[in-house]
Amino acid sequence: TYSYEKSQALFERAVKVIPCGVPGHMSPAVNIPPSAYPIYAARSEGARFWDVDGNEFIDYMCGYGPMILGYGNSVVDEAARRQCEEADLTMCASPKMVELAETLVDMVASMSWAFFAKNGGDVTNYAAMVARSATGRKKMVAIKGGYHGVAPWMQALGHHGVIEEDHTHTLRIPWNDVAAFEQVVAENPGNVAGFIATPYHVPTFYDNELPDPGYWQKIESICRKEGIVLILDDIRHGFRLNMKGSHVHYGFTPDLVCYCKALANGYPISALMGTDAMKNEAAKVFYTGSYWYQAMPMAAALACLEELKRLSAPEWMLKQGGHLFGRMEEMAAGYGFNLKVTGEASMPNVRLTDDPSGMLHQAWCAECTKRGAFFASHHNWFISMAHDDEVVARTLEICDESFQIIKEATEQGRLAS
Ligand code: PMP
Repeated sequence: TYSYEKSQALFERAVKVIPCGVPGHMSPAVNIPPSAYPIYAARSEGARFWDVDGNEFIDYMCGYGPMILGYGNSVVDEAARRQCEEADLTMCASPKMVELAETLVDMVASMSWAFFAKNGGDVTNYAAMVARSATGRKKMVAIKGGYHGVAPWMQALGHHGVIEEDHTHTLRIPWNDVAAFEQVVAENPGNVAGFIATPYHVPTFYDNELPDPGYWQKIESICRKEGIVLILDDIRHGFRLNMKGSHVHYGFTPDLVCYCKALANGYPISALMGTDAMKNEAAKVFYTGSYWYQAMPMAAALACLEELKRLSAPEWMLKQGGHLFGRMEEMAAGYGFNLKVTGEASMPNVRLTDDPSGMLHQAWCAECTKRGAFFASHHNWFISMAHDDEVVARTLEICDESFQIIKEATEQGRLAS
């Protein structure tokens, strides 16, 4: 199996000059056990990347979501390169910004404008400001375990650098709990500005949870009745469920929709979209950034969206994921294990449930990763248009070998089950 000497050596240099070595969600501390995972990537192509030690991985995290057409997609990269040659960042906005806004408005149901930034957190934060400005209210309602970025009001209380006052106006309620939303609205009469949630719930370390039938429709009707701005954070799920928006997939109409990750197959861009009624409100809020007018990612996004539409990408990924994860479940059952797949098949959470401590699941993900299928044990996975039949077949071979190994380890008492 793989070893990571060059990654380790780089990391030793990194900790001397970078806080944490690799901070944030790419940190080796995030992957359990860290020794099973590479730290530095050197090259990528299609569904695969290679680390600095030369190990090959099929990527089931897709860079945490941005990669959707495969690494090094020639259509997107060529559009980006051409734009760079013409003009990227200058003293004026690019015509590509108008084209991209028009494309998104044509594509995404019920949304009539688009605003561009870089990161997902840029646009969730902007959405909250727009909601507050539009309503003249302070409170934001979010879901317990929901993630919307690193702004202090969105981070978990108790994280270093986050103070209690940052959370004064953030109210957290459980997912799929309409009564809890009604209660929080009743307890804060006339002071709830917005409700923000992802299309389905994707908490770290836990199973994904789909919306109960009628959940989104009930949330929408409470928002309409109370004048609360309904914000859909489609940053992670966007373009993996429905090109018209994940709200179409689940049958409701938000006021604001946040996009990022898969919008440009890895080029840095995010978007806030909104209904006609929100347009003047959005225009009032001052919000900008040094690189937000870069034309290259906009050209990349235009090419990416066109490719995703041409290939009916969400439908393809849902089907391919359904096939792959169905086979994986059967394989696990053949070894006497229970593999639980939750969420939608293009972006599921995958977990071995046999051992409540999670050790067995972590051991299996580690064995798969050390053989070339990068499986995170704590986070939902992503598939892409590059996860074709060859990739699926190789993945299943790796899964089979790894099930054999953890089966033997359990039988010999080296792993709990
Ligand atoms: N919302 C969701 C649902 C996300 O998954 C993420 C990123 N993981 C964000 C917001 C924040 O995006 P970014 O890290 O680009 O700021």
